[in-house]
Amino acid sequence: TLFLDRIDALNPQLNAFITVDRDGALAAARAADARLAAGRGGALAGIPLAHKDVFCTEGVLTTCASKMLANFVSPYDAHVVSLLKAAGAVSLGKTNMDEFAMGSSNESSWYGPVKNPWHPERVPGGSSGGSAAAVAARLAPIATGTDTGGSVRQPAAFCGITGIKPTYGTVSRYGMIAYASSLDQGGAFGASAEDCALLLSAMTGFDARDSTSLERPAEDYAAALAASAPGAKPLAGLTIGLPREFFAEGMADDVRAAVDAALDAYRALGATTVEVSLPNAKLAIPAYYVIAPAEASSNLSRFDGVRYGHRAAGYGDLADMYSKSRAEGFGAEVKRRILVGTYVLSHGYYDAYYLQAQRLRRLIAQDFQAALQQCDLIAGPTTPTPAWALGQMADDPVQMYLSDIYTIAVNLAGLPGLSHPAGFGAEGLPIGLQLVGDYFAEARLLNAAHQYQ
Ligand code: GLN
Repeated sequence: TLFLDRIDALNPQLNAFITVDRDGALAAARAADARLAAGRGGALAGIPLAHKDVFCTEGVLTTCASKMLANFVSPYDAHVVSLLKAAGAVSLGKTNMDEFAMGSSNESSWYGPVKNPWHPERVPGGSSGGSAAAVAARLAPIATGTDTGGSVRQPAAFCGITGIKPTYGTVSRYGMIAYASSLDQGGAFGASAEDCALLLSAMTGFDARDSTSLERPAEDYAAALAASAPGAKPLAGLTIGLPREFFAEGMADDVRAAVDAALDAYRALGATTVEVSLPNAKLAIPAYYVIAPAEASSNLSRFDGVRYGHRAAGYGDLADMYSKSRAEGFGAEVKRRILVGTYVLSHGYYDAYYLQAQRLRRLIAQDFQAALQQCDLIAGPTTPTPAWALGQMADDPVQMYLSDIYTIAVNLAGLPGLSHPAGFGAEGLPIGLQLVGDYFAEARLLNAAHQYQ
């Protein structure tokens, strides 16, 4: 009850949870106790966690922070949810997020914004802002999230915790409500790289119900963390690439200072740094904001008021029911993405926008492969600035989109990325350092962060 009591005390201020499942959590905790007593614990036996409200949970509300799904109780568990149940973890409830995971500030939630635990007037980042705030405020020791364009790494940076998005295809998307399917990937939040490693190990594994799930042997990321002997240089031999373009401009002074200090710490641990180049990375935002809305407009067409979700109270014919239900059920940002997505996919524009964006995506992935020939992993800032003020970007979606500059290219390439705390900025707000590796380099990313911490 320690965490449940903290949620009761602090959630009214933070708004990190949409649903708290007190009874379910207590029952699961008792079951975990019994399993432990019988010597059949499971890797996370009795460990409380919180799920982003994008993961379907049998018998517990799953809203995706949308009015559209405000009454949706899933009849089944997402693959991630069942794996974590099988590992003995105890779900405390479902965390707040941007509506349908679209956003970088957690302000587009139908349930209201989440507050950054470090400052009551700052955003926690998004879209997995509730999970990040919950872990940062110790309302849960670990939490799940999803990252389509930075939604695990960016809120981890803003809330001063660690978050990892693995290689695309590592975590099953079955039961994870789809935003942009070719980019969506489940990820893990924790107070340390070790906690992330424990959670991620339990979340991964091949799933035949997700056609992009990769058939690979499960890895124990926690066991792969190296214990460091005192005085040793645990990262000797590791080459860290610093993309020239990420350090050129746009970064706030306090972010630069924190990133530089973190890189000095990595050098002190034995790593060497080299300059690398990602010449097409600047094109990641325009490419993403064509591809992601295109996929979203298709994925969100299922919310028509017929099969499930919100249905308008009064309507004329069928088309009127669709349009009234969708007009009422979706918020402004979701509608904006559906409009953009439908436009770029329409006849006559498809070649000019969508195909062009796919070409950029290929070039960006090739840039990373070339850079990773020269280094073992890539490091840079997670975000250009620390957390901004609530409401500051409300009328400026483009400015908000630009804040994803360092994270989005990683999703387009399908690579693993991690953000870990790298000190505090001018106003005492946390700053994150991002590490990016080659496909399946999760263990290497987690180990580097573990040595740093
Ligand atoms: N901020 C990005 C967007 O709004 C990324 C969101 C995400 O990763 N889910 O699409």
